[in-house]
Amino acid sequence: MAICAQGNYWGCGWRCWDAALSGWMIRVGRIAKNCMADAVAAVTGVRLGKRSLKYFDYGKVAATFLNTESGEAVRIVALEESRALADARYPQIENKKERQFRAYGEADDTELFKVERVQVAYGEMDAPGRPRARITCARCVEGVNDGREVKTKGGELLCRACALGGYYKKFEPGTAV
Ligand SMILES: [Zn+2]
Repeated sequence: MAICAQGNYWGCGWRCWDAALSGWMIRVGRIAKNCMADAVAAVTGVRLGKRSLKYFDYGKVAATFLNTESGEAVRIVALEESRALADARYPQIENKKERQFRAYGEADDTELFKVERVQVAYGEMDAPGRPRARITCARCVEGVNDGREVKTKGGELLCRACALGGYYKKFEPGTAV
């Protein structure tokens, strides 16, 4: 999910929209090769570090733009069919990247993307800028920002890794990775 840095999707309007679409061209143009998030960041100015860009690994090539003031949101997804477009349109061009560059540059937006209005669950703790709250995990004693902690039945505040299991675990010598 990319949150428009200006916090005003419809206000900054089609500039953001165009920028998102241009991100694809930039991707094709190798500036942000293979990374949708990099392409969106490059053309819209949203940043992970500013918390105006949020990354969710769903294994999909998609971006959602949210107007943080009005709550309106738009999601853009690359169409699966668009992958075949370059080969179908320019079979005579041998270089795959050149084929894609030509085809994607000329294609209509509707040939490349699905665009839909969506709703995004968004609260104060998700807002760009400095963290609003911070606690210390009662088990690992690491800091947790913005309400991402879990309260146990006993009232203990734990980080998600301690409470629910994380994507990592402590390295134990002699065990298989
Ligand atoms: Zn913890």
